[in-house]
Order: sequence, then structure tokens, then C-alpha cells
Amino acid sequence: MSRYYRYSDFLKDKYGAKTYKLPVNLDYTCPNRDGNLGTGGCHFCGADGAAFEDSGSKSVREQLLGLKDFIGQKYGAHRFIAYYQNFTNTYLPLEELKENIAPALEIEDIVEVALSTRPDCVSDRYLGEIKEMVERKDCELTVELGLQTANYHTLLSCNRGHTLAEFIDAVLTARKYDIEVGVHLILNLPGETLNDVIENAKIMSALNVNTVKLHNLYIEKNTTYARLYKKGEIEITAADEYVNRVVTFLAYLAPDIAIQRLVGRAPREKTLFMNWDYNKQEIENMIKEHLTQEDINQGDRCDYLGGKALHKFY
Ligand code: SF4
Repeated sequence: MSRYYRYSDFLKDKYGAKTYKLPVNLDYTCPNRDGNLGTGGCHFCGADGAAFEDSGSKSVREQLLGLKDFIGQKYGAHRFIAYYQNFTNTYLPLEELKENIAPALEIEDIVEVALSTRPDCVSDRYLGEIKEMVERKDCELTVELGLQTANYHTLLSCNRGHTLAEFIDAVLTARKYDIEVGVHLILNLPGETLNDVIENAKIMSALNVNTVKLHNLYIEKNTTYARLYKKGEIEITAADEYVNRVVTFLAYLAPDIAIQRLVGRAPREKTLFMNWDYNKQEIENMIKEHLTQEDINQGDRCDYLGGKALHKFY
């Protein structure tokens, strides 16, 4: 029995069978790189735009079919999500984005289109039109928003180019169209403490997002953080501190929010620092052991919503 709500269980509950993501890369950019909002990008983000799979020059259809065959055979899977993962997908002109989504809707067994994007690239027009297009093919639309942290000051200092307000707006906009929201968070950005982690969990719970994807900070080469790291101007929390942060986050998070990921990773050759030289599974095991040792389940400390100060009356 898992001590947290696993994304695999969430998908099984939703689609009635094991469901797998098929990552799709579109060769595009984001407004924090092309000069619209900024040129340097977020301090942690490298040239791949927060994804590392090399799709070569394959079309969307070729990418999806190749992965579907591979994963389908490996796991006997029959349900798939077309996951547009890199850069800022809804920053594409709407018609172009729809052209890139269309091939996914023609592939059998794809039950969902998941669009990864920035909170300031979510609008009524995009969500309304894409939702309608996807639903016509009996498919579901979800969005994954990169927030990374709810801390206003950290968002400024890591050059995100948006603050918490845009994120809240994006969640509320998605909700209008009944679109589920996933959120990406980095739990150990430089300068942040356990209080930030707790506040992140509380905000996710208060907004009742559907899934979260947790990342630890690694230092990708040729990023602003890489330059600062080499000069000794940023520090990375120890592995056991990251483990403690994840466990604390889960304790404060509402129990019905599914966890897509506990640990991030990148190819070692692209990084200056990566996961304290542990592999992903080892860190996940440390988190699970810590949950067991402390007898913590997701949501154990989620007692702050619904008028906490009034709880004594009922
Ligand atoms: S993390 Fe996302 S928003 Fe930030 S620079 Fe990379 S692609 Fe752009």
C-alpha cells in the first residue's frame, strides 16, 4: 500500500487500465527565451527546454507511433497520453498548435492530450478551442503548468518571468473548461527553506490541482545556475534534506492530489551536478523509507483548509 497517491493509480482510476505517457517534442521556444519576456530563460533551464528526449526530425505522428509500439509491447499497454512536454507548447500560434495536436487524435488508444506550458501562456481562446477539438475525438485535454515555486521572490530571482498570480489565473481558467491541471515544482531552489515547501503544498491543496510533479534541482551545463554553481554562489541542499522536504510536502498535501514524480533527473553528461550521484530509484527508496520510519501518509497534516480556526466548533 503506497503512502502517497501515485499517478499510475490516478490514471488507472480514471481510465480503467494502466495508462502511459508518450512524450512528444515540438521544436519551438518559450517567451522567456525569445525576447518576448526575456532572453536568458529560467536559471535552471538548458537548451532542451526542460526535456531531454531527442526526437530528431521525426514528425509528431512518428514520435507517437514509435513510442506507442515500444511501450505497448514492453508493458502490454492499451491506453496512452500524448504528452507535449518541452518548451511552452501553448506559446505556438493556435492554428499551428492544433496542427501538431491533430495527429495524436488519429492514433488508436490515445485517450488524453497533455500540454506542458507556462502559466502565462494559458488563455480562454486556446483552452476553449483545443478542448473542443480534442473532445470531438473522445479524448481528454489536460495541462501541466511549470510553477516551480509559489515564492514570489524566488520566482524573480530564478528569472521565471511570471509570478504566482499568473499561475492562479491559469488554474482558474483551466477549471472553467473542466481541464485537469498538473503542476511542476522544484522543492530545493536556492534560498528556499522548508517553509516554502509547506506553502507550496498548501497552495496546491487550496487550489485543488489534480497532480503534481516534484523535481530536485540539478545543474544543467550552460545555464545561469551552472555559472553561479561554478563560482560557488549557489548551494544545493543535501540529499537527506531533499528527502525530508518531499516527505513534508506530502504530509501537507491534500490526499486526492496525485503525485506524478518524486525526483527529477537529467543525462549526466549534460549536468555539472546531478542527484548527489544517486540514481532516481535510490532517492525514491529513501523517500519511501522516510515516510515509513516517520509513519507519514500524504495528507496527514492537511488540516489547514475549510476554516481551520473554526474546527473547534465541530
Ligand atoms: S523552464 Fe520553461 S519557461 Fe523556463 S526557460 Fe525553460 S522552457 Fe522557458
